[in-house]
Amino acid sequence: MREALILEELVKNIRNMKFDTQAVHAGTEEDVHGAVVTPIYQTSTFKFKSVQHGASLFSGEEEGFIYTRMRNPTVEAMENAVAVLEGGARALGCGSGMAAVHTAFSALLKSGDHVVCSESVYGPTSTLLKTVMHGFGVETTFVDTSDTEAVRKAMKNNTKVVFVETPCNPTLIISDLAAIAEIAHAQGASLVVDNTFMGPVMQRPFELGTDVIVHSLTKSLNGHADVVGGIVVVKDEQTYPHFRKTLNQIGGVIDPFNSFLVHRGLKTLSLRVKHAAESAMRVAEHLEQHSKIAWVRYPGLPSHPQYELGKKQMSGPGSMIAFELKGGLEAGKTMMNSVHLCQLAVSLGGVESLIQHPASMTHASMGREHREQAHITDGLVRLSVGIEDVEEIIADLDHALQLC
Ligand SMILES: *Cc1c(COP(=O)(O)O)cnc(C)c1O
Repeated sequence: MREALILEELVKNIRNMKFDTQAVHAGTEEDVHGAVVTPIYQTSTFKFKSVQHGASLFSGEEEGFIYTRMRNPTVEAMENAVAVLEGGARALGCGSGMAAVHTAFSALLKSGDHVVCSESVYGPTSTLLKTVMHGFGVETTFVDTSDTEAVRKAMKNNTKVVFVETPCNPTLIISDLAAIAEIAHAQGASLVVDNTFMGPVMQRPFELGTDVIVHSLTKSLNGHADVVGGIVVVKDEQTYPHFRKTLNQIGGVIDPFNSFLVHRGLKTLSLRVKHAAESAMRVAEHLEQHSKIAWVRYPGLPSHPQYELGKKQMSGPGSMIAFELKGGLEAGKTMMNSVHLCQLAVSLGGVESLIQHPASMTHASMGREHREQAHITDGLVRLSVGIEDVEEIIADLDHALQLC
């Protein structure tokens, strides 16, 4: 009984708890049957007690569930958990990371508006801006956001969104979020950060002035390569209703079962990403001194051009490594075809180590010209370090490198 009371108190005060406690308990509420885990409410719709009840739910007079696209208890539990972990007011679960990016753009932009976006972003994000958003009358300037002055110069009177991915995908270049937030706000624009690479364990964008965070839940937040999902987190409660209406109209929501899986993944987020980052540090150091490797880019290595900014802005180096072989693209292909433990697949941030070739895979749709501008060389290999035994990951890479 005493323990139950303590736990109840703890969950109520979840926003004041430490991250690891939040990860396990955030979003989970008292259940009628005493379930420890939020059940999967696999239902599309919810029964009204009467016509009057239905009407008052629709008018907002009464709180409750109407229809799963609008609100569902399992989805909401996961959303609340992510909102707590990111330190934002509210979160909106989406069907994919791209649905989250699209929802954020749709909520913040209209025809005639301008966006400043990191030039080295997740490929489909840049394609979305250049195609769909462009078609709706939104113009984008892509800049190297690690150059704060370049961001300032790119701002226009009609700039409404500054979209930053840091560290950038796949070049791992770091942008100074606090400085960019100041520039964006001076212009009345919102700073939107794609925090997929680092996640809330190692990077806290809201504490640096960010207004909206987007995530691909597909990556480290779920972490087990069995869900495609995304989320938008808003810092301020006041902006939330507009975002919710926008998502409700666009319709790109996540479903209850996937929300359940993500919520389950969140509980071990901290353990997983810290372990993966420790291993990634060892792998990066090993690759950097390897005779077949031309260069390694990893935020934990002093050779990273923004090593100091990374240390200031992030509490850990993450688990993503970019590198190029001395033999360039051909040697890189041989390596990627020769690994066994590391799997040749896109995606990242999961328990399994994944290796891929951005120029022909994740960033192919960007086009060569934009890739060159963003320093995504043809020989760049991207490695997402998982939580397998680190000696065995290194042995796998070494074996493949011998054949190059
Ligand atoms: C994967 C990814 C996305 C898109 O997420 P999906 O779930 O695949 O739609 C967006 N941003 C970054 C940084 C990503 O890695």
